[in-house]
Amino acid sequence: MPAGRHFLQIPGPSNVPDRVLRAMDYPTMDHRGPAFADVGRSALEGMKAIFKTEGRVVIYPSSGTGAWEAALVNTLSPGDQVLMYETGHFAMLWKRLAENLGLKPLFIEGDWRSGADADAIGERLRADKGHAIKAVCVVHNETSTGSVTDVARVRKAIDAAGHPALLMVDTISSLASVDYRHDDWGVDVAVAGSQKGLMLPPGLSFNAISDKAMKASQAAGLQKAYWAWSEMAGPNDRGYFPYTPATNLLYALNEAIAMLHEEGLDQVFARHSRHGAATRAAVEAWGLEVLCAKPEDRSPVLTAVMMPQGHSADNFRAVTLDHYDMSLGNGLSKVADRVFRIGHLGDFNDLMLCGTLSGVEMGLRDAGVPHRAGGVLAAMDKLGQTPGRAHAAAE
Ligand code: PLP
Repeated sequence: MPAGRHFLQIPGPSNVPDRVLRAMDYPTMDHRGPAFADVGRSALEGMKAIFKTEGRVVIYPSSGTGAWEAALVNTLSPGDQVLMYETGHFAMLWKRLAENLGLKPLFIEGDWRSGADADAIGERLRADKGHAIKAVCVVHNETSTGSVTDVARVRKAIDAAGHPALLMVDTISSLASVDYRHDDWGVDVAVAGSQKGLMLPPGLSFNAISDKAMKASQAAGLQKAYWAWSEMAGPNDRGYFPYTPATNLLYALNEAIAMLHEEGLDQVFARHSRHGAATRAAVEAWGLEVLCAKPEDRSPVLTAVMMPQGHSADNFRAVTLDHYDMSLGNGLSKVADRVFRIGHLGDFNDLMLCGTLSGVEMGLRDAGVPHRAGGVLAAMDKLGQTPGRAHAAAE
């Protein structure tokens, strides 16, 4: 084992704070016993505040993909059209999942260098005079590219088109890192996972559900059993689950929610934005290019960096892991070996960012990737313009 702590700078799973690890390190309890109801209720109610919703939230013991499937099977029927937008790899995977379930995705193709274009979505909906499209699905923070979609604009585009489609949003890598407002933005189903902004290990996933989506679920014809929202409602109302929940991950979730409120959600979002801006300052100083070409869409959660022509991103990552014990995200599918991704999310602070960027800069040098030195200095300058307050909550 190398000395010191491994730098886990992939864009999720993110670093799990010691407080959250300690909260899990507690005897597993009887999930049908009287003491459990408080744990279950705190988690279910606590997640409403994180999603900013008054509606129902369900929690599954699964990775995010399970909650993707749950969003679709609970609301749609075989052969339904769903409008999806190719922001990157995860949008493509959600589309493939929809196809496998017997839905008909209509895909607005994208170049993986921006968030979803609300105008293009509005245009497709206006052309759908017969309202055959039953849902619009977008990825809020596209983890494969580092681009953010303006969800409020997508809602406005749907409304302006006078279209009744449900709006479904993948918040797997945005929730608790990027501002997200389920009710204000009129989202019908949100999908989330535990292993990113929520700072937990992988293993929990979530749906936040509007009343309109709940109503749609009563008529939805896709087959479902494990994922059925209707099975959750009764037990959830009493703080329980219809099957064995991931008890210790729920202890962890309650601790993580407390930590997010202690810092303040707005401060959490500001911290992520600041780290995103400092990372981009470093990339610019290195003379490298950020994959997301639209500055206003660039992600506070991760930065995908393009490799100079003829240089392998995977080789650079392997050298960085070998020399500095730091894991960086790889390029996925269309951008495999052409980009690397720096995760700057979750339980993360200024010095962790400086360490991360130092590792990248040294790795670029060691792997012989052409670049200018000085990225870390540029990031430090950027951070210095708006100094963070590590102890703000305690003052
Ligand atoms: N959607 C996004 C935006 C993701 O980042 C991920 C995973 O990284 C997924 C979906 C799939 O989630 P999981 O791997 O937890 O099943």
